[in-house]
Amino acid sequence: MAQKETIIVIGAGVIGLSTALHLQQFLSPSQQILLVARDWPNTTSVNYASPWAGAHYRPVPGSSPQAIREEKQARRTYEHFRHEASVPGSGVAWVEGVEHLENPPAEYLDERALGNYTHLDGFRKLEASELPEGVKWGVRYNTFTINSPVYCAYMLRRFVIKGGMVKEYTLANVQEAFYLAENVRTVVNCSGVGFGDSKSFIIRGQTCLVRNPCSVTLTRQNSDGTWSFCIPRPLEGGTIIGGTKQVNNWDPNPSLETRETLLRNASKWFPFSAESGGKFDVIRDIVGRRPAREGGMRIEVEKLGEGRTVVHGYGAAGRGYEISWGVAEDLVKLIRAEGLVLEKASL
Ligand SMILES: Cc1cc2nc3c(=O)[nH]c(=O)nc-3n(C[C@H](O)[C@H](O)[C@H](O)COP(=O)(O)OP(=O)(O)OC[C@H]3O[C@@H](n4cnc5c(N)ncnc54)[C@H](O)[C@@H]3O)c2cc1C
Repeated sequence: MAQKETIIVIGAGVIGLSTALHLQQFLSPSQQILLVARDWPNTTSVNYASPWAGAHYRPVPGSSPQAIREEKQARRTYEHFRHEASVPGSGVAWVEGVEHLENPPAEYLDERALGNYTHLDGFRKLEASELPEGVKWGVRYNTFTINSPVYCAYMLRRFVIKGGMVKEYTLANVQEAFYLAENVRTVVNCSGVGFGDSKSFIIRGQTCLVRNPCSVTLTRQNSDGTWSFCIPRPLEGGTIIGGTKQVNNWDPNPSLETRETLLRNASKWFPFSAESGGKFDVIRDIVGRRPAREGGMRIEVEKLGEGRTVVHGYGAAGRGYEISWGVAEDLVKLIRAEGLVLEKASL
């Protein structure tokens, strides 16, 4: 029997897992996927962003090419999460989303910005009388929160059950991936930061996971331009209180001062139940590095010669979950357009 062709997907973060799962449904019987990664959903590392994410879904208004592309990917992901939320154990759940902005940036004041929100079930701009003191702009909608480690483990399980193969391995160069199996002509690079891409950078995030339950995900923009949020994790996973966004800050250690600020603000602004009494039961401090890239994600085909193709999908920064399924669809579209999957003829 002829040797099967192996497609390598690098990365077991939310982007690599979503892409591998979506790609599986287009393979011919003569093709298989090998998922290769240094870090996996059962592990933690400051350089592996996915398990640290809150994660919630919220629109980000903007008119840059990156914002417009992400908006389309986010909408498709919202539709996908609608399905995932109906699967017990997926780690995705519907929840009420609220935003309170003290000093809304120009893009929020442009009425067209609301177009970024209108696809959300139950969307409504809040009346001035509904806004807390100091808040100038607010909205509410129905959205999703994701227990990120649970969701990644769930996707990995589905991938393996559908015949996907896995290999724990640290690559020194993307080209090394072509040698990890026989008959490899396609590598999908979902490695987060890429391999030596000068446009890549990291954004440090510090959050705090507490046991206290919260029934909504609330995002608040403060007058100094910083953002605070609370994100309940489905399946009784506690609540994430965040958070910092520190560009090119490589400190792997949580700051106690930051934790105190996060919790102090949370007790003022977020609707934790009265029995909390403003006190938090801390499970752990979280520090993670969001894999960012100037201009947004690299979603691109690179031909290396000798029939080898790399399809890049990295640099999701702080929106990896929100745009995950849209990104996976875009990557698979590129792979199919290049004729890299030998699709079964539809009868
Ligand atoms: C504190 C915090 C809060 C966040 N909150 C949210 C949120 O609310 N909503 C949201 O949408 N996003 C959020 N994010 C962002 C989100 O976590 C990231 O966008 C997302 O996880 C990026 O996924 P990824 O798959 O691209 O990268 P990663 O999760 O970093 O995965 C990269 C994968 O590539 C592998 N890899 C890398 N290099 C190599 C190599 N050389 N050899 C082999 N394997 C390699 C890694 O081992 C890993 O498996 C948050 C992030 C942080 C840190």
